[in-house]
Amino acid sequence: MSEEKTLGQQRREALCYQQKNAWDCLAQGEEEALNAYCEDYKRFLDEGKTERECVDYILRLAQANGFKPLVRGTVLLPGDKIYSVNRGKSIMLAVVGEEKLERGANIAAAHIDSPRLDLKQNPLYEADELAFLKTHYYGGLRKYQWVTIPLELHGVVAMKDGSVIKVRVGDGQGDPVFTIDDLLPHLARDQVKKTLGEAIPAENLNVLVGSRPFREDEGSERVKLAILELLNQKYGIVEADFISAELSAVPAFRASDVGFDRSLIGAYGQDDRVCAYACLAALFQLTTPRRTAVCMLADKEEIGSEGVTGMQSAAFDTFMEDLCRSQNSNLGVCLEQSFCLSADVTAGYDPNFAEVYEKRNSARVGYGLSLCKYTGGGGKSGASDASAEMVAYARRVLDEANVVWQMAELGKTDQGGGGTVAVYLAKRNIDTLDAGVPVLSMHAPFETTSKVDCYMTYKGVRAVYEA
Ligand code: MN
Ligand code: MN
Repeated sequence: MSEEKTLGQQRREALCYQQKNAWDCLAQGEEEALNAYCEDYKRFLDEGKTERECVDYILRLAQANGFKPLVRGTVLLPGDKIYSVNRGKSIMLAVVGEEKLERGANIAAAHIDSPRLDLKQNPLYEADELAFLKTHYYGGLRKYQWVTIPLELHGVVAMKDGSVIKVRVGDGQGDPVFTIDDLLPHLARDQVKKTLGEAIPAENLNVLVGSRPFREDEGSERVKLAILELLNQKYGIVEADFISAELSAVPAFRASDVGFDRSLIGAYGQDDRVCAYACLAALFQLTTPRRTAVCMLADKEEIGSEGVTGMQSAAFDTFMEDLCRSQNSNLGVCLEQSFCLSADVTAGYDPNFAEVYEKRNSARVGYGLSLCKYTGGGGKSGASDASAEMVAYARRVLDEANVVWQMAELGKTDQGGGGTVAVYLAKRNIDTLDAGVPVLSMHAPFETTSKVDCYMTYKGVRAVYEA
């Protein structure tokens, strides 16, 4: 027996913007695909804890999915799958579409660097028979969150002879971990009076790496000497080799399901590997799209997209130019006709900190892919501010693909702000819209996302590629 809807109910449905929890919107059988996707995503998080490791793993996945290195000057045909690695830290991939590139490309851009503690170039010292590594934090992290947690050491040592030694300590079987110590509460009477920002000074973020002195020695700094001896035995390096190393202390957490219902994922580096993986996994699903699909996974977003591997680098332009040249297409025309989804995380509404959010315009955990018309701070400062037409375009593409999505703004106006790579794509004359996964505890050593949002982001990027 169907109940008649009142006029009010009918008009409410027709007129009011209503959102549903994405878990309530899953189609029959879709939960299996969601779970399989999230397991693959968690593996991606565990494999890549630096941008270099992400690129290494992405390369393996891409090759297994039939992608070949871009060879400059060759003719590209519809359906061709190619990639180009920028200095081991950033990777660009494409699936060539049916239409020529002058008709534009569908681009998804995300970043694979995350906040962390980089080692300084002269890091190793001994103080009172304890050995430490000096760090310089990378990205906008809250220093008090990085003490008294287990840390791993990841990175490379570039040797003068041109060889590069990979270092990865902490997540292997039987590996030791590292940590940064903090004050005991019994002696923290002065420290607790300081602000969160001041309580742990940057120069206190020193990683504890040893305490056992070198035995057959009467000299000073015997603990440091013993550590150097171990490093020399394992990697063949000496202290001066730190000078040309990129080593980072990252949280020693594996990606885990969070909650009794396993609806959430907790892990380090989900900003922005959650979107990077969505951009990648969606690309792997394509055969021959209408327009060429481009996946840009950048480095250095957390420090302003600077540097030769950041989104501001001409490496992206060169890649797009190489694609265009292979079809005798004009690069400028291609970019002008292209659409880019700048895939990056946003702040998920947190009821524990409700005061910093404007609830009507905040992304909610479990409500799907979050579109962000503008980022920035203050009066939209630093935002590329996507046009209404582009937001309308995204609404149509996502709705047609049954993607659950929502609108998002990063907290209350004048509460703070942030940016993404979007501005650097928009500057290239590409229509660009921000979209991504809402995150709780963004930039913390352990960030939390909802599985259904991860999955909807993957579905959303796929819909953009296929549009
Ligand atoms: Mn980000
Ligand atoms: Mn970030």
